[in-house]
Amino acid sequence: MHPSPFDLPEPRFVTAGEHPLWDEAPAAVDRDMAATLPGQQPPRLVAYPGFEEDEEAERCYVAFADGYSHGNPLGRAGSAAGALRVVAEAAQDTVMERLWQAWPVCTLHGLGLHVTEDAGRPSWWCAGGSRPDDPAHVRAATGEMDTVHRPRRPNRKRRKAR
Ligand SMILES: [Zn+2]
Repeated sequence: MHPSPFDLPEPRFVTAGEHPLWDEAPAAVDRDMAATLPGQQPPRLVAYPGFEEDEEAERCYVAFADGYSHGNPLGRAGSAAGALRVVAEAAQDTVMERLWQAWPVCTLHGLGLHVTEDAGRPSWWCAGGSRPDDPAHVRAATGEMDTVHRPRRPNRKRRKAR
């Protein structure tokens, strides 16, 4: 398949339960992608075999549905929150390389968001505007971008005024 002279290993899709710590994170990142990148298939984890001297050490990446991935392999994560942070950052790399756009973007400032920790949860952070009264802010918890990007629904009922 590859025209490369090197014997490049093919990735395989990681199935649920293989890396329990990472089972939840792709779903959370998928929620953010669905809210902000309509039409994208859910991201998946792929694994490449380890190097010759360390074959046990598979390297996992966040990939598009077709297996395309970019960036660094997932690092170690000691907690579910840590795993979400790692997966969200890896998804950013893959999305930016594949789609050539910053992701996700703050709709208030038009800036690419970064993963930070807010109240113990991985969150999307925006550097804010240039004015002093327009400071850096957390846009949404990772996995909850749909709270600021509400998907349009046809026949949406109007809310009564409070
Ligand atoms: Zn912002």
